Amino acid sequence: MSVRTGIGYDSHRYAPGGPMRLGGVDIPGDLRLSGHSDADAICHAVTDALLGAASLGDIGSMFPDTDVANRGRDSIEMLGLALDRLRDRGFRVVHIDATVIAERPKIGPHRDAIRARLAAALGIAVDAVSVKGKTNEGMGWVGRGEGLACIAVATVAGRDG
Ligand code: MG
Repeated sequence: MSVRTGIGYDSHRYAPGGPMRLGGVDIPGDLRLSGHSDADAICHAVTDALLGAASLGDIGSMFPDTDVANRGRDSIEMLGLALDRLRDRGFRVVHIDATVIAERPKIGPHRDAIRARLAAALGIAVDAVSVKGKTNEGMGWVGRGEGLACIAVATVAGRDG
């Protein structure tokens, strides 16, 4: 089976005023993520991981922040468009593993909602989507609460897989 993996990374700065969109889920609270689109760092990292697995470039070239069409854009929609590109080339998504690095919000209470949202967007089973949360132990810009980061790994199978 032709199995390929890709890695994606994204980070966004916090801004006042919730909710915070993460993995397509609105997380209540007093913080949001600031960015050109809806700043959904999980979706952006997963999108880049998928594009990387298929060697199809990156989210920045697919959805440039100089394009007004991408302003405030729903990142679940962007994820779906990247998925279409993979499917056009005969790839199917096997598994997603994402880790959020943030002092807050706590990911645990929202994990299953995020997994379900991503699974639906990707057309795969919920148990093929893993979402984990970690703090940065108070260190660095994440530790100071300036923003959060997400790392994702995508496993895809090729047409011959
Ligand atoms: Mg981003």
